[in-house]
Amino acid sequence: MLFAHDTDCSLIAAAALVNTAGRDGEGLPDVTALAEFFTAHGWTGRHERTEAELTSVRELRPRLRRVWYADEDEVVTIVNGLLRESAALPQLIRHDDEPYHLHAVPRDAPLATRMAVEAAMALADLVRTGELSRLRTCDHPDCDNVLVDLSKNRSRRFCDAGCGNRAAVTAYRARKAAARP
Ligand SMILES: [Zn+2]
Ligand SMILES: [Zn+2]
Repeated sequence: MLFAHDTDCSLIAAAALVNTAGRDGEGLPDVTALAEFFTAHGWTGRHERTEAELTSVRELRPRLRRVWYADEDEVVTIVNGLLRESAALPQLIRHDDEPYHLHAVPRDAPLATRMAVEAAMALADLVRTGELSRLRTCDHPDCDNVLVDLSKNRSRRFCDAGCGNRAAVTAYRARKAAARP
């Protein structure tokens, strides 16, 4: 584990959220899709299942995506902005089966606010540890998904959407074609 457990989870969830607006079209087409995303990423607390909630979650994505392309100062501006707007107040809390971790807004704050603040808190860890280079985009030429490289040797190249397999198949075919007499 590279960072605190909640930081790792928050970074992965932030990347996944950004990628719902990625190369495969709208990944959050309706409130049901958001409910599935909510469960898949272990979200708890307030969840309205309304169009308004869906819209505000979608609107967060381009702001978070910018972090992947920003330099350090710009990341800091975005992170501070998100924390300030949400009136973040970090508190260690324990709920469900999770160990103590940080929440910076109440659990009944709107989902998009909590997503923004969790991402911002995790990004603050990356800035403080000088690890912003962990935020990368997928190496596959047809893919602009973002990823978080949490591997020890910084070896992660592809996103979770099957690009690693696609690249392997392409390389295999190229090798076979080259070997043909
Ligand atoms: Zn929690
Ligand atoms: Zn990809």
